[in-house]
Formats: sequence, C-alpha cells, structure tokens
Amino acid sequence: MKELEKRIQADGRVLGKNILKVDSFLNHQIDPQLMQDMGKEFARFFADEGVTKILTIEASGIAPAVMAGLALDVPVVFGRKSKSQILTDDALTADVYSYTKQTTNQIRVDKRFLTADDRVLLIDDFLANGQALLGLKAIADQANASIVGSGIVIEKAFQQGRQNALDAGLTNVHSLARIAAFEDGQVLFVNEETE
Ligand code: 5GP
Repeated sequence: MKELEKRIQADGRVLGKNILKVDSFLNHQIDPQLMQDMGKEFARFFADEGVTKILTIEASGIAPAVMAGLALDVPVVFGRKSKSQILTDDALTADVYSYTKQTTNQIRVDKRFLTADDRVLLIDDFLANGQALLGLKAIADQANASIVGSGIVIEKAFQQGRQNALDAGLTNVHSLARIAAFEDGQVLFVNEETE
C-alpha cells in the first residue's frame, strides 16, 4: 500500500538492527485517516472470505482492526493481555511472547465473543517472528472458529514470522507493507514485481 510505505519512509525510525518505530501514526499517536484507508484495504482484500469477526491483540492491533471491522461491518474482538495465569472456564487463553518487550503475556478472550460459527480474520500491527499471530490462532482454534486470513499492517519480511505462520497452518497472510531490510537507517520494501 503506497500511502503506508510513503508514511513509513517519512516518519518511521529504525532502532537498532530490527525495530521500526512508527509511534507518530500507529503505535502511540494514531492517524485516523490512514487507519481508515488501511481498514478499507483489508476489507477489499478479504471481501470474499465471509468474515464474521475480527480478532486482534491489544493495544496496537485495535486501531487498524476497528477500521477493518467498520469497512467489513463485523465486530472486532481483542485479546486482553494479563500477567495472571489463573485459568477460568469462561476464557480462551494463549501465551504470547512479546518481540519488543521480551516478556510473555497471557492473552484472553471471553468465550462469548468467539464461537465455532465464526469466520475469523486475524489482524495485527507488525509481523516479526509470528508469536502474536500464533497466539491469536490458538485462541480461535480453542473456539473451533475458522480462520480465513491474517491481515498485517507492517511485515518485516526478513524475519521468520510469515514462515512460522504458514508452518502453523495459517494461509492467506496479507501485509499492507512488506519490509525487505533496514539499510543505514533506511527502510527498503519488498518489490512485489521482482519477488
Ligand atoms: P511477533 O509476535 O510477530 O514476533 O511480533 C509482532 C508483535 O511485536 C507486534 O504485535 C508488535 O507489537 C511487536 N513488534 C514486532 N516488531 C516490531 C517493530 O519493529 N516495531 C514495533 N513498533 N513493534 C514491533
């Protein structure tokens, strides 16, 4: 998505070898117009999948997920992070290792909000090693819901996330921006034509 790539070029900051900071429009301050355009793009791409629900993870997945939910006219559920390992009968849970925070959180979703009848679109802000996506998959699997695709805002294609997701059985992984590499603080995108 050109609009997103341009914004990353203009406002993204590369930290260290692997981290892209985009807190001026996605992870802290949020650009609603860009979020809405991204939501529409997710809705266009997954239009034929019969999506009944979007599943994301707090906090940064929520903005793009809500915009996709608005465009697809379906509810959005987010996994709540908690340190508590107390299991309750009414929650679907999964452990997710956070790439940026290097801690493990349990994420939980109330069973009322995801059922075997649901056709679920997973959404998240970044795809790095795929832990968040796999946690969301585990939650959907516990509900016996069908996963029809995964929508990612920014994929770091030089990391293992896509492969890990495919290996776990996820298909239809679509990213709005795919980063091939960071070079001297610059962001290089995957050139889809030459891939
Ligand atoms: P994964 O679970 O795929 O290993 O990592 C994805 C999660 O880690 C995302 O939910 C995102 O919050 C965070 N993350 C991973 N890489 C980056 C990055 O380069 N920049 C930012 N801002 N977040 C990242």
